[in-house]
Amino acid sequence: MRRGSVSVGGVMVCGEVRRGRIHSVTMELAGKGRELADKKDTQVSCLLFFNELLDDPADLFYYGVNRVLAVRHESLKYFNQEIAAKLLAHIVGIYLPEIVLAPATTAGRTYLPAAAAMLHTGLTADCTGLDIDEESGLLLQTRPAIGGNVMATIKTPDYVPQMSTVRPKTFRIPPRMERGGEIVYPEVPTDIFESRIEVMSVEYSDDGDSNIQDKDVIISGGKGLKRAENFAIVRRLAELLDGGVGASRPTVEAKWIGYPHQVGLSGKIVSPKFYLAAGISGAVQHLAGMQTAQKIVAINKDPDAPIFRVADIALCGDAADILPRLTKRITEEMG
Ligand code: FAD
Repeated sequence: MRRGSVSVGGVMVCGEVRRGRIHSVTMELAGKGRELADKKDTQVSCLLFFNELLDDPADLFYYGVNRVLAVRHESLKYFNQEIAAKLLAHIVGIYLPEIVLAPATTAGRTYLPAAAAMLHTGLTADCTGLDIDEESGLLLQTRPAIGGNVMATIKTPDYVPQMSTVRPKTFRIPPRMERGGEIVYPEVPTDIFESRIEVMSVEYSDDGDSNIQDKDVIISGGKGLKRAENFAIVRRLAELLDGGVGASRPTVEAKWIGYPHQVGLSGKIVSPKFYLAAGISGAVQHLAGMQTAQKIVAINKDPDAPIFRVADIALCGDAADILPRLTKRITEEMG
């Protein structure tokens, strides 16, 4: 929609419901949405669409949402890109937000571009920073460009809504605050729920430790581990600390470990309390995925490795030697 052709206002967050649970990225975006809305002195709404909901949508008020727009329908049992895009475009057409934020999850990455095309507006994918331009009031959408070597800040001055996707863990969930709000169940025409796509079956990955984004501790391995078998020592330490296993891209490309473990620009963004990088050089594309970790420990045999510039503790030496010693020592300390 051309700016000026309709009167727009407010921030809309697209929530994500997975198997009945409100995914944490919804709270992350609600917090950022609240921050942006405060700068524009406006409201935050959150669209939730689902077949069943086990969580209380009113919980979202604690994170800054003023109004939850809840859509329940049996066709929403499994994610359907066509229905989700039509639904979002329909809801935006009714509530006319000025800004729409959505998660850059597999689902978000598929239906957001389609919804943006239906709404004749732009979309900035995978933003790592969002702010409001003081002068123009426009959304400033910052994201890595040219292989992560440049941070580009993008504006959408002529079209509304201004739409962005953000990868999970890019923003922190804000502290819960006692706040009120309303839950609205908007009327949605039945044809929105019709689709040419028929979901035959859905299989969930049961690679339990691959959901590294939820872990407080991540032990990651890079090409400096030398061999696929050496991931066993990474895994042993991770298990001991109840953590997840991360990896650099070349180790995934070499099939030493699966893609769900990849940390970085083209993998997952993680923000654990503790991140250990063993045999990882610290290329910008890897740092883009882990540099917000609270404590970073790096093991590298090269004293000039770039990873040491972001590390709180630098262990210079052979990872295949240090990791087992570390694991042994921690095991002893734990009794
Ligand atoms: P290397 O660069 O080969 O480094 C190995 C390190 O191990 C070196 O620092 C070396 O000193 C050290 N070492 C060697 N032997 C030992 C030993 N015995 N003990 C201890 N240390 C040792 N990379 C990612 O990780 N994630 C991404 O998501 C990602 N996305 C990318 C997207 C794009 C568009 C591009 C262009 C690149 C991307 N990359 C990504 C690749 C990135 O640029 C680097 O190539 C990669 O991170 C390097 O991985 P590495 O550190 O494991 O390997």
